[in-house]
Amino acid sequence: MASIELSLTEEQRALRAGVLEICKRYPGEYWRDLDTRREYPEKFVTELTEAGYLAALIPQEYGGAGLGIREGGLILETINYSGGNAGACHAQMYIMGTVLRHGSEAQKREYLPKIATGALRLQAFGVTEPNSGSDTTKLQTTAIRKGDRYVVNGQKIFISRVLQSDLMLLLARTTSVDQVKRRTDGLSVFLIDIRDLQGFEVRPLRMMMNHSTNALFFDNVEIPATSLIGEEGKGFHYILDGMNAERILVASDSLGDARWFIEKAVAYSNQRVVFGRPIGANQGVQFAISRSHVSTDAAQLMRDKAAALFDAGQPCGGEANMAKFLGAEAAWEAGNACIDCHGGYGYAEEYDVERKFRECRLYKTAPINNNLILAYVGEHVLGMPRSY
Ligand SMILES: Cc1cc2nc3c(=O)[nH]c(=O)nc-3n(C[C@H](O)[C@H](O)[C@H](O)COP(=O)(O)OP(=O)(O)OC[C@H]3O[C@@H](n4cnc5c(N)ncnc54)[C@H](O)[C@@H]3O)c2cc1C
Repeated sequence: MASIELSLTEEQRALRAGVLEICKRYPGEYWRDLDTRREYPEKFVTELTEAGYLAALIPQEYGGAGLGIREGGLILETINYSGGNAGACHAQMYIMGTVLRHGSEAQKREYLPKIATGALRLQAFGVTEPNSGSDTTKLQTTAIRKGDRYVVNGQKIFISRVLQSDLMLLLARTTSVDQVKRRTDGLSVFLIDIRDLQGFEVRPLRMMMNHSTNALFFDNVEIPATSLIGEEGKGFHYILDGMNAERILVASDSLGDARWFIEKAVAYSNQRVVFGRPIGANQGVQFAISRSHVSTDAAQLMRDKAAALFDAGQPCGGEANMAKFLGAEAAWEAGNACIDCHGGYGYAEEYDVERKFRECRLYKTAPINNNLILAYVGEHVLGMPRSY
């Protein structure tokens, strides 16, 4: 039976301390500078990888630490709590799950140990397209089998960390929608080596935050047939299998953001004196921060519940979705309380509040928007009609 631990175990505390130690070497100035230049935190991600943290979820037999999703979440949460941005590297933790669960033994042996050491980076996940965002089954990128290759044609949008990855997990249609029984069939997942791919173009997009996001163009791109993961046509189901891990890990990013905002807001409002007293003595300031703390603790309980169920191998779709929703909303609430109590300084780059405010906003929208989480809860948890 799954049970929620209300405090960290000794091993988890040590894990957190190890990540914090690395994060201390990458203060606000580091992230701020990269944010201005929209550059990837290469040094930070390399150090984190070399210390083994990004291989936390890879089983020991493939060179990883074989830890649970609770520990994976703790690592990401700690990065965001320390003022950094785990969005630069969180995807590797959940993308590799598709390879682990559905890849062949040969694929696992070839890729997972190299991903664990950092010899190969798998940070890119190509799903979203200009004409199919939330409605994934409408995606139009095709991969057509020709002998021992697939030929890929199409476009992707908002695909992050492509220029910083060696490998990408790609979702493409291998059988057209009019030839399958259900539109969720006929999609396939490929693990492709994106170094030196002919006909593949990457166009970086300048986004609201530093997220290394791109538009991708595939023009008769040939990939080996051996890059197919699992069975052809089952890709959508494989991706769905990884959703709970993704939701729990992204909820953890948000929890770290929320805790950073709250700590910063409390410190500032205790020391900033206006009208002869600390601004934190005013209920208008204090209650907004208190409220966001309440939301954050509630979100953490849901994340911990989802993680406990996940790690015990029990169904956790409702909990993982609710954790992602509550986490993103709590971080946004804490971000607003933090920027409000800082007055004009909340908008000044050197305080980092505006940067974290931009960064935390993403998780209300991606990897899935919170409206669709509510749709999931309505349909799958409450048994209401499908709303879309
Ligand atoms: C910085 C960034 C990085 C990203 N990185 C990646 C990546 O690495 N890989 C990848 O594949 N994708 C990535 N994405 C894409 C992201 O997952 C999508 O933006 C998201 O899934 C929503 O798709 P969309 O933008 O097409 O919005 P749409 O699907 O067009 O939806 C627009 C809005 O309409 C609302 N909406 C739509 N349908 C419904 C409905 N039925 N009920 C209620 N409301 C609805 C939602 O609120 C939604 O926000 C990234 C996005 C961003 C912004």
